[in-house]
Amino acid sequence: MKEISIIGAGVAGLTAAVYARKSGFDVDVYEMHTLPGGECTGWQRGDYHFDGCIHWMMGTKPGSGLHQVWRDVGALDDSIAIHLNEIFFEYQKDGRTLKIYRDADRLEKHLLDLSPIDAHKIHELCKDIRAFAKMDMPVSKPMEMYTALDGIKMAFKFGKLMPLFKKYNSISVIDLAEQFQDPLLREGFINLIPGPYVATSILSTLGSLHNNDSGWPMGGSLALSKRMAAYAEKLGVRIHYHAPVEKILVENGSAVGLRLKTGEEVCSEYVLSAADGHHTLYDLLDGQYVDDLQQKMYSDHETYQLDCCSLVFLGVNADLSARAHTVYIPLDEPIMVADKAQECIMIKHFCYDPAMAKAGKSTVCVMLMGSYDWWQEKHQDKVAYKQAKQQLAKEVQAAVEKIYPEITGTVEEVDVATPMTYVRYCNAFRGAYMSFVTQPGMQPTSLNGKLEGLQKFYMGGMWTQFPGGLPGAAMGGRYAIQRICKEAGKKFQE
Ligand SMILES: Cc1cc2nc3c(=O)[nH]c(=O)nc-3n(C[C@H](O)[C@H](O)[C@H](O)COP(=O)(O)OP(=O)(O)OC[C@H]3O[C@@H](n4cnc5c(N)ncnc54)[C@H](O)[C@@H]3O)c2cc1C
Repeated sequence: MKEISIIGAGVAGLTAAVYARKSGFDVDVYEMHTLPGGECTGWQRGDYHFDGCIHWMMGTKPGSGLHQVWRDVGALDDSIAIHLNEIFFEYQKDGRTLKIYRDADRLEKHLLDLSPIDAHKIHELCKDIRAFAKMDMPVSKPMEMYTALDGIKMAFKFGKLMPLFKKYNSISVIDLAEQFQDPLLREGFINLIPGPYVATSILSTLGSLHNNDSGWPMGGSLALSKRMAAYAEKLGVRIHYHAPVEKILVENGSAVGLRLKTGEEVCSEYVLSAADGHHTLYDLLDGQYVDDLQQKMYSDHETYQLDCCSLVFLGVNADLSARAHTVYIPLDEPIMVADKAQECIMIKHFCYDPAMAKAGKSTVCVMLMGSYDWWQEKHQDKVAYKQAKQQLAKEVQAAVEKIYPEITGTVEEVDVATPMTYVRYCNAFRGAYMSFVTQPGMQPTSLNGKLEGLQKFYMGGMWTQFPGGLPGAAMGGRYAIQRICKEAGKKFQE
């Protein structure tokens, strides 16, 4: 009989595994892939490493609660250098460039130079970014475990920020962008964080950048996931790779174990799913424990929006380090990406990390949003799907060559990931790379991972902490173990 069986060795599953082991549980993790990390991954093609995840990772700066979580679970330690780009992102249009400087003072000056007419709004925004920079996201325990004293401490800590939360929680990124008169600023902000998101997302991101947090852990996403898995195994967690779970076994209203795709059954005192939310509820539990709220969340894609993306990678034998590392740039001629004409593309290179390509060579990534249904239909026909990926790679490569002519004739490796890649490798619902988009007024923004009518079972990970991302995944994993500890009468250990 196993003690805790965790489904999924993504960031959430590994976080849960480490905390569970530290808290004295015997832990087994079942992962369908041959590698840890789930969506926090990357892959090698020839001389190039294609990183499929991290753009920025909150909690890289020592001193915050989230940073401590990354240390607790072996994701970060003193040996891992953090790269902080001075400019987070550039948006170019009509010969003008908006630069999102990490430092809010430089950002303010730059925005004022670009658009004096927006001076009032720019001062207000940058003042608020500086205020958000002081925020240390509360990650220690789930809300339902807060005592009255914790509430008072929180009110004391966040009291000054409350009016700002109120102000930015009630509007979207689009609403915020529209307060600026200059179209370069308006469009730039919407490309920084997708428009439907609550405006607080932009403030907390820019605040975290100003605080010199949200950097890039050198080595990238897969290296981070592998560190977490190695640490978990060192503590005694057993990670079973290539072990897809087919069903969660239930007897008399309690989860009692798992059945693997091989047919093998595993008995377990607790089952924790850190796999995709929809897959857990509808496939592993046959839709038996879906309440009205979850039914709505996974079917009403207007209210509960999900983002998916395609990534086109180029490995080029050219040095792009003098170019902006992330630029959003309009195209002379739109390209067709799946069912959408794309008028702008985001080009990113990783020259700041030698693990991505040797000196003199560069890894380039173009991230294109949306079109799950189109890719899903194409995926029914393997030949058509392959052709669509090749066509996309061709068009993107041609577009990048127009913008960076120095790469022409130097492309050595090309690879394309679509939303279906995330379905195939992670069982990701509609290819989503985060969970539900947090929009103004959206409730709830987290779930407690318990299902009505099912004991001894918890869900963790990004599908319990919206909008997900690496912090949401880690918090979801940590909170699930705190809940299990409470139920089992064990002390949660960090
Ligand atoms: C292109 C891209 C860019 C991103 N950029 C950022 C960023 O810059 N910053 C940031 O914070 N976040 C970013 N994210 C989001 C972040 O990667 C995810 O939110 C996070 O990794 C989710 O972790 P998770 O463990 O909750 O889920 P997952 O990563 O989905 O892990 C679930 C695991 O469960 C396994 N699994 C599923 N079903 C089964 C089964 N039946 N049996 C066994 N195993 C199963 C999967 O293989 C997987 O390993 C990005 C994601 C993508 C794809």
